[in-house]
Amino acid sequence: MGNDDRKPTTNDAGIPVASDEFSLTVGPDGPVLMQDHYLMEQMANFNREMIPDRQPHAKGSGAFGYFQVTRDVSAFTKAVLFQPNAKTEVLARFSTVAGESGSPDTWRDVRGFALKFYTPEGNYDMVGNNTPVFFIRDPMKFQHFIHSQKRRADNGLRCNDMQWDFWTLSPETAHQVTILMSDRGVPKSYRHMNGYTSHTYMWVNAKGERFWVKYHFKTDQGIEFLTQEEADRIAGADADYHRRDLHEAIKRGDYPSWTLKVQIMPFEEAKSYRFNPFDLTKVWPHSDYPPQEVGKLVLNRNPTDFHTEIEQAAFEPNSFVPGIGPSPDKMLLARLLSYADAHRARLGVNYKQIPVNRPKCAVHSYSKGGAMRVVNVSDPVYAPNSKGGPKADPERYPEQAVWSASGDFVRAAYTKRKDDDDFIQPGTLVRKVMNDAQRDRLVSNVVGSLKMGVSEPVLARALEYWRNIDKEIGDRIAKGVKGR
Ligand code: NDP
Repeated sequence: MGNDDRKPTTNDAGIPVASDEFSLTVGPDGPVLMQDHYLMEQMANFNREMIPDRQPHAKGSGAFGYFQVTRDVSAFTKAVLFQPNAKTEVLARFSTVAGESGSPDTWRDVRGFALKFYTPEGNYDMVGNNTPVFFIRDPMKFQHFIHSQKRRADNGLRCNDMQWDFWTLSPETAHQVTILMSDRGVPKSYRHMNGYTSHTYMWVNAKGERFWVKYHFKTDQGIEFLTQEEADRIAGADADYHRRDLHEAIKRGDYPSWTLKVQIMPFEEAKSYRFNPFDLTKVWPHSDYPPQEVGKLVLNRNPTDFHTEIEQAAFEPNSFVPGIGPSPDKMLLARLLSYADAHRARLGVNYKQIPVNRPKCAVHSYSKGGAMRVVNVSDPVYAPNSKGGPKADPERYPEQAVWSASGDFVRAAYTKRKDDDDFIQPGTLVRKVMNDAQRDRLVSNVVGSLKMGVSEPVLARALEYWRNIDKEIGDRIAKGVKGR
């Protein structure tokens, strides 16, 4: 905007104000008058600009774009966004997990990879990470896990001893910790990392046939990473390195993209697969379930107001559209509640009416009232009714994404299968996927972390943990930490 066509400043009620620079005083040197309501409004609004951080995934960045289907997968799902040639508007948000909203982008951490697809049958959210697995498999541990990665109660410091204490007492973390300590623990930018649903989901086709799926958004920019030394240096020089990179790439027209591939497991195979396919700490080997291309995600538009469009963006894995549903993954089932609940706590009960979260299709729900409701509700406000209100249509939208379950009420781990071992997959990653240089950096990253305040008996357990993943790597880490 040029300086010649500037609009007159108003207050929030639209009333033109007399000055942007001077408060109303009794004479030029006198006291400030309470009747300067514009000054009062400015000060009061400033005090309320910040909203609570997300807990976790506070530091992040995002952009808009689209998802374009490139291959027909309608035999597996009737979801509108995955039908041939469908093109759907998308919002993406990437983040670190443990850091607060001002923390450095290049701290070693898992990265969040969240997508909102604005489909004609409602918003479909995918809340994934840049890794295909997670640290734990039972939601009872989630709060404890995040506490262990954040700050101590006594001194407010992050604490490696606390992290390794939790990890080594929870061997199911071994796979994710191996990836975290590998090159993928610090991506070069948000553009240079993959995104995974990690969880298994259900797809349902038009005939009602069900399949289990895992999504892999493979970066078209290629996987690139920062070494620990580079990441540490950048953390000091530019805490917003990844946020800046994403914004500038899109601004110069260098639109980042990802190719979506899915692994598809026939519904019945889950029962007899050699490990529990819903265990979030494990991947499905590509050789068993080859990833199949579905389409392309492209980000081509930056937000114009970071607060309203990215800070207030609310993603929740319970937002399925017809043709997609949950699996018996205990972590996923708990997240179906906890994400929406987090948004209610952080943004208020009517957060889905904030424009970035609002569906692009008509909403005919019976929700009413609540703080900050901006969409009018009309009668009737109850169902069933004989007054022409919305009516569920089970013929057209039957409950299809379901499975059966039976058993006593218990608190127990998943039933063990042949390959349900915590160390097999991280061992394969270290021995068969990584090359020598990657293994060297893995050892160096772990040694660096263990040398920072990790004390006995946690240290001894950490060395045993790594020897369980791979004897040779464990021995090298032990030598690096304390020469034993
Ligand atoms: P493959 O050889 O077919 O796949 C290995 C995959 O490992 C690659 O395709 C790549 O995934 C990924 N990878 C490479 N370097 C790293 C790293 N430093 N950290 C994390 N992942 C990396 O073998 P399998 O499918 O049998 O899997 C072998 C191991 O690879 C697994 O135990 C798991 O640790 C890891 N892995 C497997 C994935 C899967 O879905 N099967 C996905 C990611 C990792 P990508 O192509 O997604 O970049």
